[in-house]
Amino acid sequence: MKAPRLIGAEIFRHSSYGRWHPLRVPRVSTVMDLSRAMGWLPPAQFITAPRAKPKALLAWHTADYIAALQRVEATQEATPHDTQRHDIGTVTNPVYPEIFRRPATAAGGSLLAGELLREGGIIYNPPGGTHHGMPDRANGFCYLNDPVLAMLSLRRNGVQRIAYVDIDAHHCDGVAAGFHGDPQCLMISVHEEGLWPRTGLLEDTAGGAGLNLPVPRGLNDTEMAYIRDRLILPQVEAFRPDAVVLLCGADGVEEDPLAHLCLSNNAHWAVTKALMGIAPRMLVLGGGGYNPWSVGRLWTGVWATLNGHDIPDRLPPEAQAVLRALRFEGNRRGKNPPEHWFTTLRDAPRPGPVRSDITDRVAELSRKAARLRLDH
Ligand SMILES: [Zn+2]
Repeated sequence: MKAPRLIGAEIFRHSSYGRWHPLRVPRVSTVMDLSRAMGWLPPAQFITAPRAKPKALLAWHTADYIAALQRVEATQEATPHDTQRHDIGTVTNPVYPEIFRRPATAAGGSLLAGELLREGGIIYNPPGGTHHGMPDRANGFCYLNDPVLAMLSLRRNGVQRIAYVDIDAHHCDGVAAGFHGDPQCLMISVHEEGLWPRTGLLEDTAGGAGLNLPVPRGLNDTEMAYIRDRLILPQVEAFRPDAVVLLCGADGVEEDPLAHLCLSNNAHWAVTKALMGIAPRMLVLGGGGYNPWSVGRLWTGVWATLNGHDIPDRLPPEAQAVLRALRFEGNRRGKNPPEHWFTTLRDAPRPGPVRSDITDRVAELSRKAARLRLDH
């Protein structure tokens, strides 16, 4: 099989949603820099994300909305109509210099991934993962929805059965809207209960296409391993997908400022590794993650996992320099970052008891999945 490929772009290096926004921190550039410092990203495995043409975005988004994003980028001003109709120019979804180009680049990578995966293989698009975007409005820091565009691109390239697994701390409401009731799609979302957008309840099957597992605060590595082995893997294997799409948001780790889960990055890497090889195609996307050190280390480790690279206990000086140069202004976690955020990729494991909330809900979803399969 062809070596995995990583899609990135320089636009993410200096782009910020504004001084006080969680997306003021660099993320994708850290993955590119760290991977290169480790010798893990030779030019042959790197693809520069093309910026999606407005027309390509119409595969899911409305023309009116795409035109609004382009106009707002040009004028740097949202009209009252943009805000009311498209949620552009709010505290959550602010006007910023690359408000069209940045999401269009993430989407361009995901659309390209759908084409390249026609032939099979593994593609990693860490700029992608904007799973809250809606057809005609911005939602939860997401202006477009590149996971939906990636899955539609896979479909256009002959790939029918898609297993979409989302381990971001937030529910994938945009993807659920895009593939509601799709019999050729299996959507599994594991997310923190009660967290915005508060959708994705245990009872919600996305019209028969989805399994939602809301998890309590404090989710630990042992619990995620239980969910992986008892829910995610058996369901994805039974579905016999032509492609697996993994949204590997990095906001489920303990030191993330937005969510309240307590995973270590080992949990994300283990899910990534377990999903490899189930289908002839795999697309891994980024997603949330708002601590610049956690997200850079976690997503670089995902790339190492996809390539089968050993992650050293201590990073070489060039890689440490990438992490030491990061800043986290306006957050207490940026004041005295612990030394291991600079010197390692791998967190210490965070094991714990598997609570009955988890075992009960996994059992309930397994029963539900068996009924859904009979319906198809
Ligand atoms: Zn998230």
